[in-house]
Amino acid sequence: MLSHDIIIVGGGLAGLRAAVGLCEKYNVALLSKVHPIRSHSIAAQGGINASLANHPDAKDDSWEKHTFDTVKGSDYLADQHAVEIMCRQAPLIVYEMEHWGCPFSRFPDGSIAQRPFGGAGYPRTCYSADITGHVLLNTLYERAVSKGVKVYSEWYVIALVTDNGQCHGVIAFDLINGAIVPMKSKVTVFATGGYGRVYQYSTNALINTGSGIGIAYMAGVPVKDMEFVQFHPTGLIGTNILMTEACRGEGGYLINNKNERFMERYAPKMMELAPRDIVSRSIQTEIDEGRGFEHPLGRYIKLDIRHLGAQKILEKLPGIRNICIDFLGIDPIKEPIPIMPCQHYSMGGIDTNEKAATEVKGFYAAGECACVSVHGANRLGGNSLLDTIVFGKLSAIAIDEFLQENNITPDEKPINNKLVHMEDTIKKIVQNKGERPFSIHADLSKNMSTNVGIFRKKDELETAIENILRIKARYKDVRVSSSDPHMNYELLNAIELGYMIEVAHTIAIGAYLREESRGSHSRRDFPTRDDEKWLKHTIARPGADGNPEISFKDVTITRYQPMERKY
Ligand SMILES: Cc1cc2nc3c(=O)[nH]c(=O)nc-3n(C[C@H](O)[C@H](O)[C@H](O)COP(=O)(O)OP(=O)(O)OC[C@H]3O[C@@H](n4cnc5c(N)ncnc54)[C@H](O)[C@@H]3O)c2cc1C
Repeated sequence: MLSHDIIIVGGGLAGLRAAVGLCEKYNVALLSKVHPIRSHSIAAQGGINASLANHPDAKDDSWEKHTFDTVKGSDYLADQHAVEIMCRQAPLIVYEMEHWGCPFSRFPDGSIAQRPFGGAGYPRTCYSADITGHVLLNTLYERAVSKGVKVYSEWYVIALVTDNGQCHGVIAFDLINGAIVPMKSKVTVFATGGYGRVYQYSTNALINTGSGIGIAYMAGVPVKDMEFVQFHPTGLIGTNILMTEACRGEGGYLINNKNERFMERYAPKMMELAPRDIVSRSIQTEIDEGRGFEHPLGRYIKLDIRHLGAQKILEKLPGIRNICIDFLGIDPIKEPIPIMPCQHYSMGGIDTNEKAATEVKGFYAAGECACVSVHGANRLGGNSLLDTIVFGKLSAIAIDEFLQENNITPDEKPINNKLVHMEDTIKKIVQNKGERPFSIHADLSKNMSTNVGIFRKKDELETAIENILRIKARYKDVRVSSSDPHMNYELLNAIELGYMIEVAHTIAIGAYLREESRGSHSRRDFPTRDDEKWLKHTIARPGADGNPEISFKDVTITRYQPMERKY
């Protein structure tokens, strides 16, 4: 059995930041199912928010204003004390990343450049052209390497071991050697990212299965606010590749087939820079009411950045231009970009507090897989990169405190029991005679995009849940084409699919029960926000019958009483 003080699962920004904070004092292992630099964080384009007040229009920006924008953007579901912590930390961590060598774009005076982003009162999104995630992740990875963090690359965690309210370690699958490996630790941190691939249309990498959220949930760790799924307004049609919010931040327009900047009807003040939930619904409404454009790849709206001019596009959005040319043969300097909204971000996740701690002793979570909650019902663009680094850092501080105050000895017995259970599970998959994982996954993701999408309704949500139950039954017989465990991605897909189905189930049940519209959760049959009944977090745990068992938790309100959200 392998043994480390701390096991961190995930080599994205949250996992690497936690590792950098702990590796000098503790024996840390970082496990990642792909090489850390291939984590989805690498794909982040637009930027990271911090009230540096560098922009000429942001001279009186402050962490309080950032907090207010975030709380309002969250449709008042965010826990305000946690948002305050994140927004106070923001300038500190951006300067820390700068000092660690992160090459941010700069204003002529040499200060870190900032651009406007959706739902923000001031231009406060720090960026590096349109490759912000790339530069942040490389900076943290280099730091982790220089500090000697032990990285287990291409190791999949397939189960979390909890017993008696304590976490003892994980069961991992070493892909290259095809071995199932038990690992014990005093503390385990999940930084496993989002679940985009539970949906058919998503901007997320194929690796974003959300298995970490499902693994924690099945080990009895509660998950929170799973019904809140962010749909990004601008995915490139046909591919769903993200066209960053920076396209609009830099001044891009959204145009319908009447040649109107239709956002005037939905958010007259903020227009294209209203928060994502509002812009996505507006685009979908235009398309549904016949004001979209037709394309063999689907109906769409135009994102027009031509008026920014070639120089600005080449300087600030070069990656966007290349993607459009490479994937659709369209040059945005000359033609508008065809876009449609698609799944983008997981507001819900593993229920943690502001120290990244969960209800299970010794088990922490940070980044997109966690729900602190700082994004509530709708996340603002630029706040996720921030969340990953802030709570990656704070988790390290909290874990150090925890280990100093507690004498923890992981118990090998539950780890060995779990090992036997996972070996049996894999044996069964290999002997099964049912369907292969890809066909079940296709039906699951289609069900989610069709029935638990931008707009939701009771009958569609009922259909979604019935479909999930049928998919669960089919999954029991899932089979793979090769029994050789060595580099067997299909076997891992089959294991992860089980967790994805659980994640989908918690999303659908949460959406079905929440009879109101708040942030990204928009019910056609309950079109308004209902603070009296629903100003609360949804908590899901696996019930005895296999269905999610739902309870509720209060929202922490410090200084901002819920108001109507107008933009
Ligand atoms: C295209 C795109 C653009 C974005 N742009 C922005 C932006 O401009 N600004 C912003 O604020 N946010 C942006 N976001 C959101 C933001 O990038 C993500 O929320 C954030 O990077 C997530 O970081 P993370 O560390 O939580 O997880 P990730 O970077 O997703 O990393 C997850 C890690 O977990 C590992 N892992 C997962 N499951 C397992 C398992 N079972 N076993 C072992 N390892 C596992 C993976 O290998 C990976 O290393 C964007 C997102 C996308 C998809």
